[in-house]
Amino acid sequence: MIIVCETKASEAQIAAIQQKIREAGLAVHRSDGVEHTVLGVVGDRSRLDMQAFALMPGVRDVVPVSTPYKLASREFHPEDTAVQVGEAAAVGGPEVAVIAGPCAVESEQQIEATAEFVARCGARILRGGAFKPRSSPYSYQGLGVEGLALLRRAADRHGLALVTEVMTIEQIGPVAESADLIQVGARNMQNYPLLTALGRCGKPVLLKRGMSATIQEWLMSAEYILAAGNARVILCERGIRTFETATRNTLDLSAVPVVKHLSHLPVIVDPSHGVGNRRFVAPMARAAVAAGADGIMVEVHPDPDRALSDGPQSLTFEEFSALVNRCRIIATTIGRRLDKGK
Ligand code: PEP
Ligand code: MN
Repeated sequence: MIIVCETKASEAQIAAIQQKIREAGLAVHRSDGVEHTVLGVVGDRSRLDMQAFALMPGVRDVVPVSTPYKLASREFHPEDTAVQVGEAAAVGGPEVAVIAGPCAVESEQQIEATAEFVARCGARILRGGAFKPRSSPYSYQGLGVEGLALLRRAADRHGLALVTEVMTIEQIGPVAESADLIQVGARNMQNYPLLTALGRCGKPVLLKRGMSATIQEWLMSAEYILAAGNARVILCERGIRTFETATRNTLDLSAVPVVKHLSHLPVIVDPSHGVGNRRFVAPMARAAVAAGADGIMVEVHPDPDRALSDGPQSLTFEEFSALVNRCRIIATTIGRRLDKGK
């Protein structure tokens, strides 16, 4: 249930409404919009007398929210949310954010060269896995905490924010210390204890869509993070499993407008994991920007043929530079912008 306050509701009136909700044993989340303050009530609604709230001073409307996610819904927060990531990036504002870097950090030289190049092209956020969720236990598993330090140094040297993945609750501490944005990978989208812990981590979270998750399940996972107290969630479409085998996954670009309709949260697209083949990454990145994505996340490697993970889908520097230039034109055409770089 959400309570929409009158435009002129006083702070004292809003506080009285919040107090009444808490007295009923329910949690309340406040969202201050351009016109109205909206209070999201989370918990067992049968414990509340909706009519009693409707009559309180300062209340304009009491609306039952039919979706199983509340705080992630457009009803709770009608305006788009922009999430600030470090000092370098805002995801969900007028600018289309470019997130780029290797699948995994492998060495100081590799991450430094990549950070330098992607920053020059206009990327705002450096990506790179230090803890890698590999499908095979025999594949490269990442550099762990040593990788976090390499990533942070490379990002700082080139004025980039940093996103990297956590797989376990124990990794949240070290990752939150290094990263500006914490990634939850597709395989962990429904790891509810991890999501709840990330709700308390104090850093924004990039929540990738599970490979077999519906949009509703994905938004319910976002709700776990929001309900635990972290309003800074960015969603990332990265392809889903279908019967098609020509591409690694099927990139569901219709998720972009659907999520934007259902939710206020920013949504970005990862075409690299979506298609799994570098030949198809650029057209899908361009299509993502055209579809209204708030950003793209692309795997880039100085020498993709020698990459320790996801080489076949990683772009060369040259391919990445061309992709960003084309995406910039599309962004401008649809009334957005994409940073020019240095
Ligand atoms: C990644 O971004 O490095 C990754 C492992 O992606 P996903 O979780 O989407 O497979
Ligand atoms: Mn990868």
